[in-house]
Amino acid sequence: MNIIIFLATFFLMEGVTWCTHKYVMHGFLWNLHYDHHNKDKSKVMEKNDWFFVYFAIISMSLFYCGSFVSGMEFCTYIGLGILAYGIAYFIVHEIIIHKRLFSNWTQQFFYFKALQKAHRKHHSHLGPEDGECFGMLWVPFHYFKEAYRNR
Ligand SMILES: [Zn+2]
Ligand SMILES: [Zn+2]
Repeated sequence: MNIIIFLATFFLMEGVTWCTHKYVMHGFLWNLHYDHHNKDKSKVMEKNDWFFVYFAIISMSLFYCGSFVSGMEFCTYIGLGILAYGIAYFIVHEIIIHKRLFSNWTQQFFYFKALQKAHRKHHSHLGPEDGECFGMLWVPFHYFKEAYRNR
């Protein structure tokens, strides 16, 4: 059961991320996401990185409930699902797509190429409106088809 809670949370987080990205980051918290679309190359950190902190606080609170509140043990597995998604997001978005660490080894995988192309499309919009491709580990299917054909 716990593994199901964990996996369900992980996959649900892609939807949560899509909605957060579209309606919160491109909405009332655009001032924190702005510098991710309008990059200042001289800075190592972005204001956008605060979103990692927010999600970390949520998953830490869930670990707290899971450990110290009786009857709430399942929260631990929701927290773990969010943590695992955060790590996957970090690897895919910061390392593979934006190359903030390490470099180009990922170019050989069509899955990563599809994510990169879709996310470049997302970044082609510099303002908060008319965005597209808000997901991170899953993007519109034609990107996968195209990357697979051109692999
Ligand atoms: Zn965005
Ligand atoms: Zn990005």
